[in-house]
Amino acid sequence: MRTLLSQIYERQDRSCLGLDPELFQPTPDDLGGAALAVWWCEQCPVLMLCRDWALTHVESGVWGGLTEQARAALLRSRRPRARCPGCKGWKITHSGVNQICLSCGVSWRAQRRATPEQPAAAVA
Ligand code: SF4
Ligand SMILES: [Zn+2]
Repeated sequence: MRTLLSQIYERQDRSCLGLDPELFQPTPDDLGGAALAVWWCEQCPVLMLCRDWALTHVESGVWGGLTEQARAALLRSRRPRARCPGCKGWKITHSGVNQICLSCGVSWRAQRRATPEQPAAAVA
């Protein structure tokens, strides 16, 4: 079975084909380098396939037109927001490790989320 990654690498029309792979690995403070890599991706017909891969796998560098930071922000924005277990309201604030409902005053201990570096199975 062909993986998503092999489908990307097999594409002869991808923009990064033949380019120095280091171009897509800018250091965090190299904003010009990141912008150049993103520009190449934006010309690429494989962009969405590549982005899907990068969002579901832990990869460093620019993939699918997104830097690591941009991918992390996109994944954070897709996470479901916390709801109050009492009144099911959305107005939640934090106090230390607790979350507090601003509508009904119920508080509860916040759930820790899994991160790529710390898989769900390892979260207490
Ligand atoms: S989107 Fe960017 S990293 Fe992905 S295949 Fe295209 S040029 Fe390469
Ligand atoms: Zn509530």
